[in-house]
Amino acid sequence: MTVIAIDGTFASGKGTLAKKLAAHYNLSHLDTGKLYRATARIALDNNYDLSDPAQCAKAARQVSPEQLDDPVLKSGPVGAAASKVSIHPAVRQELLDFQRDFAARGGVLDGRDIGTVICPNADVKLYIDASPEERAERRHKELRGYGEDITLEQVLAQLTERDERDKNRAEAPLKIAQDAHLIDTTNLSIERAFDAAVKVIDAVLAAKTTKT
Ligand code: C5P
Repeated sequence: MTVIAIDGTFASGKGTLAKKLAAHYNLSHLDTGKLYRATARIALDNNYDLSDPAQCAKAARQVSPEQLDDPVLKSGPVGAAASKVSIHPAVRQELLDFQRDFAARGGVLDGRDIGTVICPNADVKLYIDASPEERAERRHKELRGYGEDITLEQVLAQLTERDERDKNRAEAPLKIAQDAHLIDTTNLSIERAFDAAVKVIDAVLAAKTTKT
């Protein structure tokens, strides 16, 4: 059962890469950010206090798989709220079993704490990053595509705030797992990033096969 763990910063390209890698290796894919986004959406819809762990955990308990493909989860405000609800250990705990059950069947999971907390024994761990300016440009283009009226400067400011929150929270902060392979996509097209990732994954899996 192969598990590929992909962590990285917001808008680093990890989601697109994870999807392409899952198709290439014929594995299922879980974008774990959607669980936090769905939690945030439920909290926002119910006027829950995003700083209240109990209310946010209650929202996390209401998340169901059918909600994960709703395009509304992709919006900027839901993403910002997701990074707020995700700081609560009680929320992370509520979402743990779903992610571990998924991983137990093998697959590609992407998020912030996959290689460090959710799947510490993953077969391959990748950490995807890019410069804040490049990530802001990508995200800006995407948000404009959804019709959101927002400037590049605003996106960069929000992204910097999000990075800070994800990297500095006490519980499961975003960090590079000791055995993760870093891919910087700042100057890479999706295709080149994909090629780089496949090279790493094939090498790690081949080394594992030789050992066993
Ligand atoms: O990846 P995405 O932008 O959809 O994630 C939204 C937010 O959910 C992130 O900013 C992060 O705070 C949180 N998240 C997390 N752990 C994960 C995935 C996402 O804390 N594994």
